[in-house]
Amino acid sequence: MQYNLIEPSIYMPTSLADALGFKEQHPDTTVYAGGTYLLWNQASRLLLLPKSILSLQNIKELNRLGRTETRLDVGAMVSFQRILRAGPKVLSPLLVSALECVCPPSVATMATLGGNLSVPDRCMASFPVMHVLDARCEIKSSKRTRWVPVTGLRSPTGELQLEPIELITRIQIPMEEWNFYIHRRIGSFSYGITADSLIMVIVGKTYRGMLTEFRFALGNFTSRIYRNRDLETLLIGTRLPIGKSKDLKAFLYALQEDLQTQKFLSSHAQLDRVLYILQSTLANPFQYSA
Ligand SMILES: Cc1cc2nc3c(=O)[nH]c(=O)nc-3n(C[C@H](O)[C@H](O)[C@H](O)COP(=O)(O)OP(=O)(O)OC[C@H]3O[C@@H](n4cnc5c(N)ncnc54)[C@H](O)[C@@H]3O)c2cc1C
Repeated sequence: MQYNLIEPSIYMPTSLADALGFKEQHPDTTVYAGGTYLLWNQASRLLLLPKSILSLQNIKELNRLGRTETRLDVGAMVSFQRILRAGPKVLSPLLVSALECVCPPSVATMATLGGNLSVPDRCMASFPVMHVLDARCEIKSSKRTRWVPVTGLRSPTGELQLEPIELITRIQIPMEEWNFYIHRRIGSFSYGITADSLIMVIVGKTYRGMLTEFRFALGNFTSRIYRNRDLETLLIGTRLPIGKSKDLKAFLYALQEDLQTQKFLSSHAQLDRVLYILQSTLANPFQYSA
């Protein structure tokens, strides 16, 4: 992205219709949500801003947060802090853990979920959990509205599937009951992006001592996340605890091969850590029950 020192032109509409109309006419304008990614890593005293900015800050429609029995509805401009303030009665423990890991608390007052999912060149910290939970985004332009699952928000090669005239306006997160879940942030630092930053999400359902659903994703802040649904199905129907069963060994072996082929992880230590967490979780998922 190119920033310059000329005074930027900033448009701050108060309605979504105006924002979409402006985006239609100025597809190259930079959308500004909380600004925490756009301005991240700027060390100089003067901020370098894009030439033309569309600020979503004053749009009430994008600031709504609601919960039904089956889902959480998050307006694209709702900050992480506000989502987290909804508390454990509204959020699942997995969501609390995942959203707390996105950015430092001081940044979470401004940073938004819409902004986190819209970063063009990287799948940021919320991406793996939104992928695994089957969250979907409402995407609008002045002419149409479409719903896209987070799983379809990126092309297989990692490009964000958002037209220049479109905005993410809302995120719907299904609130399913999971019998066990893990969300881990692995790496040298709790926040930020380094070569060893990794996010790992595991969720599963059990019924009468059997694994009936299992999902697993890794995010390393590149433009793609790691998820292999064929591998996920390998363990479905296995009796619990899986312990040292052949099924678990076969799954871990296939996963190791696939991760190495795809060169998704940055080191052997990282691979060992991922395999260890998966093995200990699946060996006895009840210790991680919701
Ligand atoms: C100290 C610090 C540490 C951080 N650590 C992390 C971290 O560990 N993990 C992490 O994921 N992030 C981290 N961040 C980055 C940032 O806080 C988050 O990614 C945040 O969620 C971005 O949201 P935002 O509202 O600030 O987006 P913005 O910065 O406003 O926008 C991000 C991008 O999305 C586009 N955009 C925003 N909203 C929309 C929309 N509704 N529709 C279409 N396009 C849109 C913008 O044009 C821009 O390209 C960190 C930031 C700081 C300052």
